[in-house]
Amino acid sequence: MNCCNEKPIISLEAGQKLCKGHFIEYFENKVFKTIRQFNLIDKEEILGVAISGGKDSLSLLSILKKLSEQNPKVILTAIAINEGIGGYRDKSLITAQKFCDKLGVKLNVYSYENEFGMPLDQMLKILDVKPCTICGIFRRYLLNKKSKELGFTKLATGHNLDDECQIILMNQFKNNIQASARLGPKVGIKENPNFVPRVKPLYLCTEKEVTTYAFLNGILDVFNECPNVAKSYRAQVRDMLNDFEAKFPGTKYSIINSFLQTLPDLKSRFKNAKVNFCKSCGEPAAKDKCNACKYADKLEKAKIAI
Ligand code: SF4
Ligand SMILES: [Zn+2]
Ligand SMILES: [Zn+2]
Repeated sequence: MNCCNEKPIISLEAGQKLCKGHFIEYFENKVFKTIRQFNLIDKEEILGVAISGGKDSLSLLSILKKLSEQNPKVILTAIAINEGIGGYRDKSLITAQKFCDKLGVKLNVYSYENEFGMPLDQMLKILDVKPCTICGIFRRYLLNKKSKELGFTKLATGHNLDDECQIILMNQFKNNIQASARLGPKVGIKENPNFVPRVKPLYLCTEKEVTTYAFLNGILDVFNECPNVAKSYRAQVRDMLNDFEAKFPGTKYSIINSFLQTLPDLKSRFKNAKVNFCKSCGEPAAKDKCNACKYADKLEKAKIAI
């Protein structure tokens, strides 16, 4: 069924076809509704927005800017991590900076080179580790540490429904259920001053919807993907999931909806799990030392050995 007499540009999962204007309205309302439904953003926030220069995070920033204009007590600041991936992140950070300048949002950039002594490309030459493993550990570490330093009350990320489905399945496939207890639209098993809460306003938006929104708003200028993506476990799960969705439409929504029903039980099951703090840096850690410090030590040893 068409929304109006205008030419439709997208078919939603439920079968409805929307024109440009109605789609933008639908998408923005969906994000605002998600924020209200899961109580993601309070009336007063110093809200960090993690951006990469990609379609998800810039679409998110654009919508949150509208929200902060309606509610000036929500103060936005963007944060980006430069992992040091030649030919990729340098370009996307230029896009990110231009976009932030256009919106009048301050962007803070932190690099692996400054924080850990070398860019990711170089780390991968001296350590035998999967790119996304070390990259993800250092990124999460820096985002949390720098969010605290910048005084963020929350950090919003551009994770969409597809991203969440992928990680739910990855945790299932790897029997890592405790990690799933830390998922959901608001991240963190328990509130802790050492951990800046993370919120995902695009939680119920599919990749297709975000891509369409980004395209219609001129955000999606050049398609730019990390060269390490193809080597990742996540990419295999993503392709499998997309294949399944094409054969059985609605699969992704079913995964999220069933997950949201079980999430309260999961959170309650692990609510007493002890949170440790790294003896070296004080950041949250699974054991005595956080994974970022463990990898930083390995890098130091490898550098000495060269
Ligand atoms: S795809 Fe992997 S290596 Fe590339 S930015 Fe993402 S986590 Fe880092
Ligand atoms: Zn319409
Ligand atoms: Zn540490």
